[in-house]
Amino acid sequence: MTKNIAMTAALRLSEKLPLPLRRLADLAYNYWWSWTSDRIALFQTIDPQEWEHCGHNPVAILESATYERLTQLAEDPFYLKQISALAKEFDEYMTQKDTWVSRVAPQVSIAHPIAYFCAEFGIHESLPIYSGGLGILAGDHLKSSSDLGVPMVGVGLLYRQGYFRQRLNRSGWQEDYYVDNPFHRMPIELIKNEQGQPLTIEIQIRQRRVKVQIWQVQVGRVTLYLLDSDREDNDPIDRWLTAHLYGGNQETRIAQEVVLGIGGVRALTALGIQPSVYHLNEGHAAFCTLEISRQEIERTNKSFYDIEADVRQRCVFTTHTPVPAGHDVFSPDLIDSFFAHYWPQLRLSREQFLALGARRLGDPWEPFGMTVLALRMCRTSNGVSELHGRVSRQMWTVMYPNRSEDNVPIGYITNGVHAPTWTAPLIAELYSQYLGSDWKTRAVDPKMWEKVDDIPNQELWWRHQILKERLIAHTRHKVKKAREARGEEYERIQATDTLLDPQALTIGFARRFSPYKRGHLLLRDTERALRIFGNIDRPVQIIFAGKAHPADEEGKRIIQRLMEWCKHPALTNRVAFIEDYDIYTAQKLVQGVDVWLNNPRRPLEASGTSGQKVCFNGGINCSVLDGWWCEGYQADANGKGINGWAIGEDAHTSDQELQDRIDSESLYQLLEEEITPLYYNQDANGIPHGWIQMMKASIKTNAPLFNTDRMIADYVSQVYVPEISVTVPPILAKVLV
Ligand SMILES: *Cc1c(COP(=O)(O)O)cnc(C)c1O
Repeated sequence: MTKNIAMTAALRLSEKLPLPLRRLADLAYNYWWSWTSDRIALFQTIDPQEWEHCGHNPVAILESATYERLTQLAEDPFYLKQISALAKEFDEYMTQKDTWVSRVAPQVSIAHPIAYFCAEFGIHESLPIYSGGLGILAGDHLKSSSDLGVPMVGVGLLYRQGYFRQRLNRSGWQEDYYVDNPFHRMPIELIKNEQGQPLTIEIQIRQRRVKVQIWQVQVGRVTLYLLDSDREDNDPIDRWLTAHLYGGNQETRIAQEVVLGIGGVRALTALGIQPSVYHLNEGHAAFCTLEISRQEIERTNKSFYDIEADVRQRCVFTTHTPVPAGHDVFSPDLIDSFFAHYWPQLRLSREQFLALGARRLGDPWEPFGMTVLALRMCRTSNGVSELHGRVSRQMWTVMYPNRSEDNVPIGYITNGVHAPTWTAPLIAELYSQYLGSDWKTRAVDPKMWEKVDDIPNQELWWRHQILKERLIAHTRHKVKKAREARGEEYERIQATDTLLDPQALTIGFARRFSPYKRGHLLLRDTERALRIFGNIDRPVQIIFAGKAHPADEEGKRIIQRLMEWCKHPALTNRVAFIEDYDIYTAQKLVQGVDVWLNNPRRPLEASGTSGQKVCFNGGINCSVLDGWWCEGYQADANGKGINGWAIGEDAHTSDQELQDRIDSESLYQLLEEEITPLYYNQDANGIPHGWIQMMKASIKTNAPLFNTDRMIADYVSQVYVPEISVTVPPILAKVLV
């Protein structure tokens, strides 16, 4: 099979466009466009209403544009200039030879790429196959790998209906629904074989052989392969295997993980791709280690135990979950029904097979753990922040009876975010001006970020204020549509026109509503919260967004309480909830808020990344010292925050009630005594110089560390190719235990 399957879909689309617009098709079929600074108007200009309607999908907008509109654009020299400049930049990017990896690790070649496996990928809102942080991280991982020239392919599942969509009913209760993804109008392409038929692989699932087809998505220079079982020649039940992300029961879950792990490896083989490293991003993909073993046994005719070390040499693992209950485990019964045909192929007995997923060797009654399998079968394992690394070592000591906790072989690489994706173009332009036009390729350089001090305060402030207005406009729009859909009273719908105030101190809180994230901590003392948010002279307002997992009743109750709060007469214009959180709303939020609030129950936030996105836009974090913020937060000698605020103390108690009280008290106090006064200390022109100083500190201290270029450099030098010596800035060097 060919390795570089040309995007024939792009070619087909281009032929429908007037000649001067043809390059738009190449741009539409490569998500590279979504992280350029020129992204905002590029496709939206074609038809702003349809652009919103189709979920910002560039292929759909080009497919649906009228010939009249297309020729209109084709006669606009201004638009043509924009396209040809972008197409030129794109061609240079795609053919660039001198990349970071070509300099530090030329031995990693595209002939043997890194294969990055994940159950979800959050690349853009027009490809809704993600649920939250894990997926966004995976998307950012591919983007930065592309930027740095890391030869990589992604492997995931193409969910017919993605993650559930959220709508809140009149009593504030979350209702879940699903929408079909229109694969044939999306920037993805079904891979065909030489006969022009879809290339398929087969997997045995329960008693049936299931055919799986493969789609490809271009993410800059990285190709993402997505597996899809929705084929007419499959049993109707099997067609639903890849319908929903994190839906269904344990049986669906294990079946999906078989498709991802075993199917993923077979797909790469069918494509002729021979990875040098398999990166299992979270335990969902751990079955891939079994399939690599099976192929190796078939090839060498050796036993599992003879090839095990060799397989381990090629596999690396990142764990993301700091609670034991968060790790996938399957009962031996379930393993029997999915793997009874498979362990003979590994030349293993049932007991030997089950032992691979048992925490303690020789304890075959234990459930089969995906994290356990990954830890056992991978050469290195890491958590996603320093604290999470520590928590993981503690959690998994049980697997390493001969080692002390400190010597459990799990290190850490702290997560980051893809700066060009998350930085608002309006701020990116400022960075180009003051830090250098090449700032995006130097995101890891702390010296460069120091130059943020050169940006005049009023310049940073007006841009920030515009982005805040943009966020407020987006919020009003979404809330209005939701109220209309619920059939609320005319006055309530009209009231959205004055919802929130662009001059007011604006806080954002958006993430999955898992109970550990304590989405309603702020409401613990409602009187005190009312005094803060209902204050007339120094208004404070907050915007919430996020989904609760369909099975999570407690998370849904938290959302319901927030919705009630939105209706409080004293707060009607001060609190808003945006339904159906996605990457687009996330971008508006992290680019427009003054303060980003995060108050998880420590240490349950493995890393968190949304607060990092805020930093690139000059937003300021107010967060519990958990996950990445433990490493990011800086205080002066008096314990006052320099680059943001820390909720509660570094110490913590196992008494949840007490912890909630301590943390909420601390949060109120910060809002009353530090955050609000600093924001409202403004000069005659309304410019808060003290606040802006903190915005700049937030950028300068966090941006060079918590970006995915630093993260990928760490993965390359510590995990993917540890034998190279890399000259990444010393500040970035973190040693794996
Ligand atoms: C960044 C992001 C997340 C992750 O948020 P955390 O607060 O780090 O958990 C979740 N969902 C979306 C849409 C995001 O963009």
